[in-house]
Amino acid sequence: MFRKQPCLSRNRLNRNDPVFERLSVLRHALGESRLMFTDRAALERHQGRLAARHLRWVAAHSADVARRLREAKLTPGEWRHLPPTDKAGMMEHFAQLNTVGLTLAQVLAVARRAEDTRDFSPTIRTRSGEVTVGLSSGTSGAQGAFLVSRAERLAWAGVTLRHLLPNWPGGLLTRQRVAFVLRAEGQLYRSVASSRLHFRFLDLLRPLPELAAELSSYNPTLLIGPPSVLRALLDAGALASPVQVVSVAEVLEDADKLALSTGFGPVVQVYQATEGLLGLPCAHGQLHLNEAHVHFDFEDVGGGYVRPVLTDLRRRAQPMIRHRLNDLLRLGDACPCGLAARRIESVAGRQDEALSLPSVSGGRVTVWPDFVRGALNRVAGLREYRAEQTAERTVQLQLEPDAPAIRATATEAVQAALQRLGVTETELSCGPLEAAVPGAKRQRVRQRWTPDC
Ligand SMILES: [Zn+2]
Repeated sequence: MFRKQPCLSRNRLNRNDPVFERLSVLRHALGESRLMFTDRAALERHQGRLAARHLRWVAAHSADVARRLREAKLTPGEWRHLPPTDKAGMMEHFAQLNTVGLTLAQVLAVARRAEDTRDFSPTIRTRSGEVTVGLSSGTSGAQGAFLVSRAERLAWAGVTLRHLLPNWPGGLLTRQRVAFVLRAEGQLYRSVASSRLHFRFLDLLRPLPELAAELSSYNPTLLIGPPSVLRALLDAGALASPVQVVSVAEVLEDADKLALSTGFGPVVQVYQATEGLLGLPCAHGQLHLNEAHVHFDFEDVGGGYVRPVLTDLRRRAQPMIRHRLNDLLRLGDACPCGLAARRIESVAGRQDEALSLPSVSGGRVTVWPDFVRGALNRVAGLREYRAEQTAERTVQLQLEPDAPAIRATATEAVQAALQRLGVTETELSCGPLEAAVPGAKRQRVRQRWTPDC
């Protein structure tokens, strides 16, 4: 879908051949170097060219995108004026949106069977080839279902490889051991494996001491995983000195970043969601939007936060056109690395995780997750916590350790932070940290109260 395959690969190699996969990944990785623009105008011209071609194709192949354009009385070239859709809209029109002829029922059946058998990269054969199926771990509302074609998977693997492999391109020629501690999407990275690039997948449902011992004996050059799991491995005594630690799948908090960089090595993060490959690290360790492949518009939600409305300029199996994300971001200033793609200062968390508390002025105040985390991360001696809004004006703090002194400082820190936001009369209760579901994504701030209106 990206560019025509070289004749050699098309004629002599079977497309299911691992050699074909590796060549395809390598081609995308090498091509990515040309897309790391330092001139903003050049980046935007590149986006414009991709968008013109992609929107024409999508409008002709996705009945749902055609319908949205028609209802808004827009041509494909006027796509930026399209009213945004979201996960609910995507799920409602799932069968008409995707271009590989799958119904939601077919996809859900395959994905749920895969969850039961712990095969986290289930695929379905379609008229357009093999697609990988995923479900988003949505915290509220309906679960999202996502499709990625094989060509898209190989392209993502190539782009990711280019941005993560230490010492590019020399790193391609040195032996790399990549430890991957993540339950899902292993297949994305398996595509890249070769004699020089070796992968070890550590199943995060295994006991921690066992995982820590395996990680220590493997001693990876690149260590990839959710920060909460990497931190737990570090605390369980894992010894490793990778060239780079890559945080994926969860928000990377400052405290974890500091601990991981002290214990293992320099930490960067990849911002990848089921909605796409959204952000990649630069040579200075900063996170940049993946603007060579995804176009971002932003809605200002106040307090320095923006909500992205993304248009993926590559994905065809399940087009993402003017799709509003639930995530909130803070964008940063220009980065010393010189890349034109905008820098993400922080991923503040999902909007549906934000707390909603009574305001001194009579209305309600939205309290973003990173605000609560900021208050609790400063509590001395607090190793782990969870903050949940359980009722209209009640926030429950689960603390580890749950000692009287820690209760007092945690309560004080959260109350002070809430007062600064103009929140009034919040009831804070404290208790011990409840055990998390093994393998579940860490979520320190949760919204469990639903307003009636
Ligand atoms: Zn940078």
